[in-house]
Amino acid sequence: MIIALKQGTEKEEADKFVLFMESRGLTVHVSEGETQTVLGLVGDTSSLDPRTMEAHHLVAKVVRVQEPYKRANRLFHPEDTRIDITADGGVHSIGGGKLGIIAGPCSVESPGQITGIAKEVKAAGAGFLRGGAFKPRTSPYSFQGMGCEGVDLLVAAKKETGLPLVSELMEIHQLEVFDEIDIIQVGARNMQNFNLLKELGKCGKPILLKRGLASTVTELLMAAEYIIAGGNDRVILCERGIRTFESFSRNTLDIAAVPFLKQKSHLPVIVDPSHATGIAGLVPAAAKAAVAAGADGLIIEVHNDPENAFSDGEQSLTPPEFASLMETLKKYAALEGKIL
Ligand code: PEP
Ligand code: MN
Repeated sequence: MIIALKQGTEKEEADKFVLFMESRGLTVHVSEGETQTVLGLVGDTSSLDPRTMEAHHLVAKVVRVQEPYKRANRLFHPEDTRIDITADGGVHSIGGGKLGIIAGPCSVESPGQITGIAKEVKAAGAGFLRGGAFKPRTSPYSFQGMGCEGVDLLVAAKKETGLPLVSELMEIHQLEVFDEIDIIQVGARNMQNFNLLKELGKCGKPILLKRGLASTVTELLMAAEYIIAGGNDRVILCERGIRTFESFSRNTLDIAAVPFLKQKSHLPVIVDPSHATGIAGLVPAAAKAAVAAGADGLIIEVHNDPENAFSDGEQSLTPPEFASLMETLKKYAALEGKIL
């Protein structure tokens, strides 16, 4: 962090300020110019807020050189993090050269629906089953999810297929029924629910953290930092489109965020082409672009009867469409040197 002190700051005052910074465990390099003193702070500056520092009466300007996230930062953890899930005697992985494919309906709707889709996505090569039991819906009149019963149906589908489960948790007390859920999804709307993130830091299960509707990648990484700082380093970042002025698609897929996040962080990065586009016909192209951009996986909505789906039917692939996409993705994965 670089701090430029205000012109005309007395040396005595500057020295006191330096001592104060050193008392916080930082090494301070002082450059005294003709009219201005500039301080270079070396050490862990993650707890310093540049905006608060700028409010100090001696400070003219603060420039952060290092990112405010530490545990999610590749600088301090150069090797890729891989998330391994053991289910049905096999290991299912996301990251570290493994392309993880999560597929399934937006919402769990019935025993036949979830188990039927689970079998089809497994046959097509998916490694994980998704399905929402607790649904964050914009309208209180829309289908809110089957709740605990939906979780039971997911567990039954896991027993039948061996696929590990990914499902969204909206409140921390829902953990009581998430014993059999292998990866906990934090939805876009909860990305900055800091109390939830702190609690999930203690839960011991991998977290699929979706980017907020209008969040920057740094905010996404700071949200991941909350979970890791709480004691859980198994976090998967998910680019799921952001809100922009463009309206042809439900959201705008920020494809460049994938290589950027991969450069900045060691955490696996996956893409949700379903929510990013909101249109089933755009999902295959967005999925291919994601793999080509270096994503470690995809989460794709698949429904046996999209027209009558309880949620997100318009963006859901049918099982045959998903199977055909998987065939293409195998070639893309090979080009990227990834194992699908
Ligand atoms: C979902 O996965 O169905 C969902 C609600 O996603 P998001 O939080 O990205 O909108
Ligand atoms: Mn959905």
